[in-house]
Amino acid sequence: MTVEYILERLSEIVGPDWVASKHELIERYLADETAKGVRPKAASDVVVVKPSNAQEISQILKLATDAGVPVFPRGGGTGLCGGAIPTRSGIVLSLERMDKIVGVDKDNLMVVAEAGVTLGQLEEAVEASGLFFPPHPGDEGAQLGGMIACNAGGSRAVKYGIMRNYVKGLEVVVPTGEILQLGGKLLKDNSGYDLMHLIIGSEGTLAVITQAMLRLYPAFASTATLIIPFESRHAAVDVVPKMLQMGIIPLAVEYVEKDLVKLSAQALGLNWPCEEGSAQLLITLAGENEEIVYDQCERIAELAGNSGAAEAIIAERREEQGNILKVRSEIYTALKPKTFDIMDASVPPAAMGHFMDAIDEIASRFGTKIPLYGHAADGNLHAHIMDNVPPKDADAIKLAIYQEGVRLGGKITAEHGVGKIRNELLPLCLSPKAIELMRAIKGAFDPKGILNPDCALS
Ligand SMILES: Cc1cc2nc3c(=O)[nH]c(=O)nc-3n(C[C@H](O)[C@H](O)[C@H](O)COP(=O)(O)OP(=O)(O)OC[C@H]3O[C@@H](n4cnc5c(N)ncnc54)[C@H](O)[C@@H]3O)c2cc1C
Repeated sequence: MTVEYILERLSEIVGPDWVASKHELIERYLADETAKGVRPKAASDVVVVKPSNAQEISQILKLATDAGVPVFPRGGGTGLCGGAIPTRSGIVLSLERMDKIVGVDKDNLMVVAEAGVTLGQLEEAVEASGLFFPPHPGDEGAQLGGMIACNAGGSRAVKYGIMRNYVKGLEVVVPTGEILQLGGKLLKDNSGYDLMHLIIGSEGTLAVITQAMLRLYPAFASTATLIIPFESRHAAVDVVPKMLQMGIIPLAVEYVEKDLVKLSAQALGLNWPCEEGSAQLLITLAGENEEIVYDQCERIAELAGNSGAAEAIIAERREEQGNILKVRSEIYTALKPKTFDIMDASVPPAAMGHFMDAIDEIASRFGTKIPLYGHAADGNLHAHIMDNVPPKDADAIKLAIYQEGVRLGGKITAEHGVGKIRNELLPLCLSPKAIELMRAIKGAFDPKGILNPDCALS
């Protein structure tokens, strides 16, 4: 089949206004938020297509499978491992037109939304119904389909979990064109192998997600965010398991270095409210009333004080708390211009302090400094390899960090995904048999290998 034929067919399927191949129209679809040192090179001869429903996506995928043309699903383009970058000539399938909230179902505590709805849009719609969608990967331009495809985590995973814990139903289109309805507005479903959970976290390699049903929670009557300063990183992270053992399960527990939050605040034109301590914990608490939240704040401040923390700062106003979350979420953006790569390994939560020490030791061996921050209660650490490190050393540093994380019982990626930058590293943490089974699953969904090639598996 010729390129002209494919273009003509795509125009017939979605209408000519929704197919683009000129460079100025497709340029922004050739990159995502991946740091420059590791960002995969995009092919230049790609076509961007913007379908408006699952039926159109079905026809596009059938066409692509028949013609053996690669298709790259794209959400908000906020991914950090090149997953949405079209690395071969083919079709970028953007979900941006599928941005409808189908409905908030208050009785079942669920929302049904199309895959192109952004996190920001979803939060607004859900909050207008008096309900709450806790997950918050840092960029609110991320789309629901991308968040599900990446099984996104973010800072508010401590109490209710990551995307996987919220997805109850999916509509997806498989590469051969069939439209599948998986799961439903159900809290219990044991009907056969769980294909829905296979697709969650499959990074656009098994199916295109077109619609989702997500679990919601009642809005909290009261929330507060604590900033607790420590002079010692170990003192900070050692407080976390003790707090959880006391029965306090916050929405978010983040570890940050003061220098980094100050840099991020400055870039956003905001003031960081805590000058004390080189290491800080940011803890967001939520409860049914102010007394419960205040009592938890006091108990945590006392525990932290006994572990050497200086006086905690408590933010109660919604705007103040929003700014703290924003500053934390945008550390990556502030560091990005000088970042070679951002890592997101996970280790058992109690091993966070050891992991950070090992990373410091690796950094000093290579004569560099590695900024660290992350989701302290989740054992998920972000280490930035900066661009002043020679590329050869950067790869050696990353390998040493991955190996140390795996030695501590961890994995190479906690939430950003494998994408197109970590495929070769999977054998560090998965057995050959596990990878062989993944390849067999990929083959069963996508016999011609058209969907997001070069991603997740090598
Ligand atoms: C400042 C900043 C902070 C961030 N913080 C976090 C964080 O705390 N936690 C976290 O987990 N992530 C974080 N991220 C990463 C990113 O926001 C998430 O990975 C997010 O889930 C990506 O969504 P997206 O819609 O932008 O996907 P894209 O970047 O467009 O795509 C990501 C992957 O999903 C696939 N995909 C997209 N849409 C679909 C679909 N409809 N069907 C099938 N496959 C699809 C793509 O093919 C690709 O493989 C952050 C990013 C930035 C820039």
